[in-house]
Amino acid sequence: MSYRIAFAGFNLESVTAVPQVSTRADFERVCFRGAEIAGHFRGTNTVAGGTLKALETAGAEVVALSHSLLGALGPASDDAVEAFVDELAASLIASGPLDGLVLHLHGACWAPGVEDVERHIIDRIRAAVPDLPIAVPLDYHGNVDARTFAGADIAVAYRHSPHIDMGETGERAALALLRLLDSGVKPGLAVARPGIVIPSIMSATALEPLATIIAEARAIEAAGDCDISVMGGFAYSDDAITGMSVICLDWDGQAAAEAKARALSARLWEAREALTRAIPVWGLGDALEDIAAHRPKGGPVVLVEHADRMNDSTHILRALVGRDCGRDWGRVGVPFLLDPESAAKAHAAGAGAEVTLALGGKSAPETGGPLTLTARVLWSGEKSYTVTGRYQQGAPVDLGLTALIEIGRIRISVVSHFAFAVDGDPFYIFDEAPEDYDLILLRSKTHFRDFYEPLADTIYVVDTPDLGPADVRLIPYRRFDTARAYPWCAAPPVFPTRPKMTDPQKPTRRGK
Ligand SMILES: [Zn+2]
Repeated sequence: MSYRIAFAGFNLESVTAVPQVSTRADFERVCFRGAEIAGHFRGTNTVAGGTLKALETAGAEVVALSHSLLGALGPASDDAVEAFVDELAASLIASGPLDGLVLHLHGACWAPGVEDVERHIIDRIRAAVPDLPIAVPLDYHGNVDARTFAGADIAVAYRHSPHIDMGETGERAALALLRLLDSGVKPGLAVARPGIVIPSIMSATALEPLATIIAEARAIEAAGDCDISVMGGFAYSDDAITGMSVICLDWDGQAAAEAKARALSARLWEAREALTRAIPVWGLGDALEDIAAHRPKGGPVVLVEHADRMNDSTHILRALVGRDCGRDWGRVGVPFLLDPESAAKAHAAGAGAEVTLALGGKSAPETGGPLTLTARVLWSGEKSYTVTGRYQQGAPVDLGLTALIEIGRIRISVVSHFAFAVDGDPFYIFDEAPEDYDLILLRSKTHFRDFYEPLADTIYVVDTPDLGPADVRLIPYRRFDTARAYPWCAAPPVFPTRPKMTDPQKPTRRGK
């Protein structure tokens, strides 16, 4: 039997404390509708790509509606959320008879007037089309509870961070929906929450003890008929349900789903202290001293400014420029610094010109503020490309007006639109390679690991006094009840403190 299945998506990971609100116009800029969705995402390693693959392979007719993938920024405006839901509800009703909906959400979108944006979207769509089966593929960094999915039939999330399985996640959601339609049986769907909040840098799924617990989830799946998503949660989005969770979709029914979700949630709770200390976190001064002392030669050193949430923080860049413009460390690469104003100014000056910029640091005072410097413009112009790394492979990226500038031995690409520098693309697009550099400054939390772990000599995760701290106790939560959710924090030191690195562990050195 051939089904008609709708596809739609609304995707934003919100840092509540970021002042810039993503408006309806921002979502609109990245919105694809109808046939555009297949045109941009068919064959890509994205949720849309995986969903299309599974549905089209099964001979279903895909009714593609609207899809906005905004990435990781600040809050969404209430109006942007409502506009998406209004349009989707109207399109679903106008689409004629449908058999199901694959609704791609993040799980950590935040809006000032909406508690749990994903729950709100699902509930409103459920009210508009009460009998339509709904499958929800999610990001692993979602904050969810059972109530989030009360209006949904299926929920599955990425199993990996770095998210190399976005396509597979779309396929899992679509295949579960097809199974529901074929069998007429609705699976059990349970969510258990251990009450643990970890910073994003600790959520990489290859880190222990997380890797072992996730392997246990795979073993439970192999022994049963279920799909388990261990969720990292997202500490920087302030909701009543912020934190880790376990989703279990179980074809053996609701009781089985709940037992499995609870058992794995208990495993996370047992491991709570180790989960918050999975990797060492460095103070900036210590990291730079360590690099200077070791003079690594086995590939570039990667500095991760993880607390940066808007790709424009200047804490580390200021220190690098201050240290003789990078001569201490050889060639320094700083990809995808977000600053439309500086990109425009450099573009106006033109290639070959010297230009004085107040660079970066404009999104919030916590970013370190703008860094005044005079740099040479190497290239400028509009830049867009297709992702070659495994994270979102094949997806289109539009950087807008972009300038490649150089100060001393530091080369910075200044972009006008937020983009993830997690693979080689930020260098390949300028006919360079990451290997050309001795030191690379990234702002990723976990996604860089897929590409840079094999390449880097050493990775230093550096904590700076910014909006995404490693110590989640510094986050000014309002909706979230900290006293209930991480009581063991009363017994420090659970987290490294800044500015000194307190963890005795050294970062992993390749081949040593
Ligand atoms: Zn994520």
